[in-house]
Amino acid sequence: MLKEIKHINLLKLKTQNNNGSTIVFPKNTLEVSKLLKLCNKRKIEVVPIGGNTNRVKGTFQTDKTKSILMSLKQMNKIKTIDEDNLIMTVEAGVTLERVQQKALSKAYLFPVHVASHKECNIGGNISTNVGGLQVLKYGNIENNINGLEIVLMDGTIINQLSILKKDNFGPKIWKLFCGSEGTYGIITQASLNLLPKKNYTYTYLIEISKFTALFKLFKQLRSKYFDQLTSYEVIFPEPVSILNQKYTKKFNIIVEFNSNENKSFNNDFEKFKVIKFEKNKIQSQIWPLRTKVVTQQAENSYLYKFDISLPLNNWSIFLNAVKIFHKDNASYEPYFFGHLGDGNLHCNYKINNSNQKKYQKLENSIYQLVIKLGGSIAAEHGLGYSKNHLIKKYKSREHFEILNKIKSLFDKDKLLNRNKLIKS
Ligand SMILES: Cc1cc2nc3c(=O)[nH]c(=O)nc-3n(C[C@H](O)[C@H](O)[C@H](O)COP(=O)(O)OP(=O)(O)OC[C@H]3O[C@@H](n4cnc5c(N)ncnc54)[C@H](O)[C@@H]3O)c2cc1C
Repeated sequence: MLKEIKHINLLKLKTQNNNGSTIVFPKNTLEVSKLLKLCNKRKIEVVPIGGNTNRVKGTFQTDKTKSILMSLKQMNKIKTIDEDNLIMTVEAGVTLERVQQKALSKAYLFPVHVASHKECNIGGNISTNVGGLQVLKYGNIENNINGLEIVLMDGTIINQLSILKKDNFGPKIWKLFCGSEGTYGIITQASLNLLPKKNYTYTYLIEISKFTALFKLFKQLRSKYFDQLTSYEVIFPEPVSILNQKYTKKFNIIVEFNSNENKSFNNDFEKFKVIKFEKNKIQSQIWPLRTKVVTQQAENSYLYKFDISLPLNNWSIFLNAVKIFHKDNASYEPYFFGHLGDGNLHCNYKINNSNQKKYQKLENSIYQLVIKLGGSIAAEHGLGYSKNHLIKKYKSREHFEILNKIKSLFDKDKLLNRNKLIKS
């Protein structure tokens, strides 16, 4: 394949996908390196693509005549499972679901989970520093990695794969690539941390009337079951009523525990209406509801997305301020849900008779409030192309400049995933 590439114009390289983009499928790290080196020399932009499930136009090609897509789909091997050191080493094109299943088949757990797990790839997960449904207990993916192999735009291969639990022999360069959204380098392999699998999973779907009550319940459960509480997800009344087709003014909460004990948590929920309970359910009926909340947004025209995290105690202040905003601005319809246990909610909107001015008003109001309350305006989905203006606007000048310097160090001509994360 590479021999061939050297002699042809890369922009004509097979395979074309159906919308006219050129896409390459390297089969190993060396091929990635040679392709990047060649593109670097010819000033061809490269857009890495995994499962393409990101929410921020992270794989958008601004100009298809100047750029190629690079998919690591053919680099999908699970290379080793080191049971002495509890590390699984995989190629970046393997899906998250396959990693999870492989771990479980050996009685281990890879504890990162998102609703898009069947499609998304480990490389995409790491580049977005994916959060998901179990961050409360296990953290984002960066907390579950022990090393990476990365290829820079000039073809340099950095191999920091590792099975060592302790290693301070210089800083861990690979950490910089977690959440870099494909702008610093292509992730080709990863050493993933495994945990022993837990015996039981308990999942509850609960209805609660007041936000203050669900917040109180969370704090009670966290102090009682800190080691077992893995998810505390909330769906606000609006998505609940839209998806259920029958009006309800209640919040739905999904609470999940992982434990080695065969026990009951029912007493903890006796003050609330438990809509459904599942124990060790492989085909859960609760979690698909949560996925539906995400996948039905576009169909219901909730297109304006704010991915926010706040210190937990500031959510009530935020929601009160939002209520006041809605009173004065009737054309904004909220659709809120998310990972309350992690302090992260997706505060999404439909805007009736939408226009740029109305959107800008909403964006300014929400972001300024979040910053004032000490939060983040890009909690887990990153910035991609959709939000590439935000770092310059909301982070300090020093922060912005250092990010640009790092980018220049790894990719001086800004060819890798151009205009993502920060506008070039
Ligand atoms: C139903 C649904 C639910 C979701 N829930 C969550 C959630 O709870 N939490 C959350 O954080 N996200 C969530 N997401 C978003 C998404 O699944 C994650 O961002 C995921 O990590 C993206 O992985 P991917 O393989 O699809 O990457 P892609 O979308 O293909 O790419 C994402 C970014 O990474 C870059 N990239 C891809 N592969 C590589 C590589 N090998 N090397 C370097 N850069 C690369 C791309 O250029 C792009 O910028 C959800 C999405 C859907 C559709």
